[in-house]
Formats: sequence, C-alpha cells, structure tokens
Amino acid sequence: MRHFAVVGSGPAGFYTAEALERAYGESARIDILDRYPVPYGLIRFGVAPDHQSLKAVAKRYDKVAESAGVDFIGNITIGRDVSVAELLDLYDAVILATGAQHDRKLGIPGEDLPGVVGSAEFVGWYNGHPDFADLDPPLGGPHAAVIGAGNVALDCARILSKTRHEFEGSDIVGHALGALDRSAIRTVTILGRRGPHQVAMTPKELGELGHLEDAVPVIEPGDFPPIDADEALDPGLRKSVSLLRGFAALEPTKAKRIVFDFFARPVAIEGDGKAERIIVERTALDESGAARGTGDTYAVPATLVITAIGYSTSPIADVAFEDGKFVNDRGRIADRLFAVGWARRGPTGTIGTNRPDGYEVADQVAAAMPPGSSSDRAGAAGLKRLLEDRGVLPTDYDDWRRIEEHEGGRARPGSPREKLVRPEDWFGVLGR
Ligand SMILES: Cc1cc2nc3c(=O)[nH]c(=O)nc-3n(C[C@H](O)[C@H](O)[C@H](O)COP(=O)(O)OP(=O)(O)OC[C@H]3O[C@@H](n4cnc5c(N)ncnc54)[C@H](O)[C@@H]3O)c2cc1C
Repeated sequence: MRHFAVVGSGPAGFYTAEALERAYGESARIDILDRYPVPYGLIRFGVAPDHQSLKAVAKRYDKVAESAGVDFIGNITIGRDVSVAELLDLYDAVILATGAQHDRKLGIPGEDLPGVVGSAEFVGWYNGHPDFADLDPPLGGPHAAVIGAGNVALDCARILSKTRHEFEGSDIVGHALGALDRSAIRTVTILGRRGPHQVAMTPKELGELGHLEDAVPVIEPGDFPPIDADEALDPGLRKSVSLLRGFAALEPTKAKRIVFDFFARPVAIEGDGKAERIIVERTALDESGAARGTGDTYAVPATLVITAIGYSTSPIADVAFEDGKFVNDRGRIADRLFAVGWARRGPTGTIGTNRPDGYEVADQVAAAMPPGSSSDRAGAAGLKRLLEDRGVLPTDYDDWRRIEEHEGGRARPGSPREKLVRPEDWFGVLGR
C-alpha cells in the first residue's frame, strides 16, 4: 500500500487525487487535506455565484471524494498544525495544491485606506468565505472602482451592478445579496493600465455586461486603435475587442454604468480617513507594448476601490518559494514533494488548466513508485495521532456534508446559502 497526501481541495487537488486514484486503484490511499472543513477552494470561494454552470464541475470532484481510495480531511492547516517535513514522514508523496489566495498589492500611497479591498476579500465576501464574511464593503456611495483588466475585475463589476432579480438561480450568500440590494453604487469604473487590445478579459465574461438589466457598459470610442489592427489579434482576444467596440456604440440609458477607463494607471488613493478618489495617470503604450505614464493626472471618484491585479501563494516553512509560487521543475519541488495548480504555475488559466498539472505529477509519482509497490508509512492513521496530540480536531467527509446541509446551498442547488456557517460555529453544527 502507498499513502499520498494532497494538500488543498481546489480543482488542482481534486484532479491530482483523481489521477492518482486512476493510476493506483486499490493499491494506494489518497488523503485530500484542507484548512477548511468544506472543499473545492476557489470553486466555492472564488468563481462567481451567478456562474452556476462552472461551479457544476464540483460534481466531478464529488465522484473523486466518494471513491473508496480517497478521504477528505478538513480543518488542518499545513505549515501551522503539521509541517511539510512531518507529512513527508507519514506519506510516500506530498502534493501541494494550496492555490494562490493573497491579493497582490498595488504599491501606491493610500492603498491601506478603509474602503480599499482586495478582490480576494470582496469575492470571498459574496461567496461566503469564512475569513471575509464580516468585510462589510462600503456600498453607500454612488461611485466604485475596480483596478485590473481581467475576468476577476469583470466579476466584481458585474456583481456590483446586478439587480436582486438577476441573482435568482445563483448561490450568492444571503448577507451579500441583502447588502448589494441596498447598494447606492451607480457607476463602477474599471481601470486598466493598457488598452482594449491588451485586456485579459474573455468574451463570455465581457458578453454578459451587454445584457444586464439595470447597467450598461461605457467606453470611449477614441481608446481603440483603427479597426484593421484587430485582424492581427488571436481569435479569442479579437472577439473580446469586438464586444468592447460594440459597447462603445451603446447609449448609456440605464440607471447604472460600468465605465471602462483604459490607459489609466492608479498612482494614489486619497480621502479623508477613507477612500474617496483614485488619482490616475494617463498612459500611452511604448514600442514594447508597456504602459508609460504621460504625466497627465486626473481623479476618479470611488468610495469603494477593489484591486484585482492578481494573486500570490502563501509560503510554507521550508518549501522553496519565489515570485509568488513554490519553486518547482514541472511540478517537482524536492524528493517526493510536488506542487500543482496555482501553487505551481501562479494565478493563471482556467479551472481546466489545472487538470494536466495533476495528471503530470501523478505520472511522475507513479514512475518513481510503481502502482503495486508498497511502503510502511503510517498515512492518515499517523496523521490523526499527531493531530490528536496537538489538540487539532480534523473533520471528515460526513462533517463536510453536514455543514453544507446546514448552510442550505447544496441542499437546494442554485439558492443562496442563507445560513453561512462561520468558523467559530463549525463544531457547534457538528455537535462537538
Ligand atoms: C475570483 C475568481 C474567479 C474565477 N472564476 C473562474 C471562472 O469563472 N472560470 C474558470 O475556469 N476559472 C476561474 N477562476 C480560476 C480558478 O478558480 C482557478 O484556476 C482554480 O481554483 C485554481 O485551483 P487550485 O486548486 O490551484 O487553487 P484553489 O482553488 O485556490 O484551492 C486551494 C485549496 O488549498 C487550501 N489551502 C491553502 N493553503 C492551505 C494550507 N496551508 N493547508 C491546507 N489547505 C490549504 C485552500 O483552502 C483551498 O481549498 C477564478 C479565480 C478567481 C480568483
């Protein structure tokens, strides 16, 4: 028998467990460990609640969790409750699938003012992430701004602009739905350092902005290069640019506006004890396509500022770390230690991009320890003894299901998780 520990239960963790399960069958036990008692990482706490078809990928992961060789062990933080070295003693291989949960910082004055929140916090708030349930973003002013030119920025702008009615069928948490319903925000400005040809926004996410009940996208037609230049773009980006060109022709007739402010680099956030405006410098592209400041500045009003400029992984003691991710060669960090997903590649790609990572690492593990071979490592039994000695209460698959049932979301697919279970209440719900 072989014992494998997959640390992190997001897409990368589940694809890796699936690949190991397929390779080893009954000759291995695979434990998926997570710091939360509920799994799925950003599928649960990142992907927008009005994108239910994407969240449905969790059904595939459910099958993995239910397979005989796989266990889920929650409420255990690697690097705090147990070290990687200890896991390597207990398991034949350890695969870090811990994602990238920290917002990258802008590095400009005023970034720490109240009213400035990272997208991980804001997205976590509307998705019921236990760490951000109390965020209480300021929604009382007419102006908000989102800094960034990718899909996360679009998610934030869309969620701020939707009507209560448009959240039907989503699983947005009750506290966010109520607060957004009372929101006074009428203009959301999306600030991008470069132009429409440089966006990292995909056509599906952009297309949604054209069909909002109460909000309309607004773009300066002068921000676009001549239309012939679109021909040189990759097909996906060309489609995005064509949607943006369509937005530039729309009349802003609805109550709310989502304003795309291109060639705009934030240089400071100002306000009297809280965010009130962003000072922005106009940019122009140089020959290499980089944004260069022109020296012209102006103010964009915003009492809520969301930064959506990327994420970095949390370092773990004694694991080599550089540029926001674990140092690895095709997933291998050290002997028997691997990384997959965002912890391996950084925060890029879609949910599906994590699948090849998991399969590639499983192949490397299987090449080093052929299925059918065995070792005398203690696996989960040893881990549980260690946790007991340290007073850490691990949770299991049944606990996860009971928390979800209590929250109501999974019990009623597509409905808000009204009864979000906060970390302090997890064990109350579980009757411990
Ligand atoms: C706001 C947002 C929206 C997105 N929307 C889409 C979309 O619409 N479509 C799409 O294809 N992709 C989307 N993505 C990308 C997608 O979510 C990622 O590709 C994917 O989640 C990365 O998977 P992962 O397993 O590497 O990390 P994660 O999903 O972050 O999973 C990491 C897991 O590790 C656990 N963990 C972390 N540290 C520890 C530790 N020390 N000990 C134990 N456990 C730990 C975490 O609790 C978490 O469960 C979105 C991303 C974001 C941020």
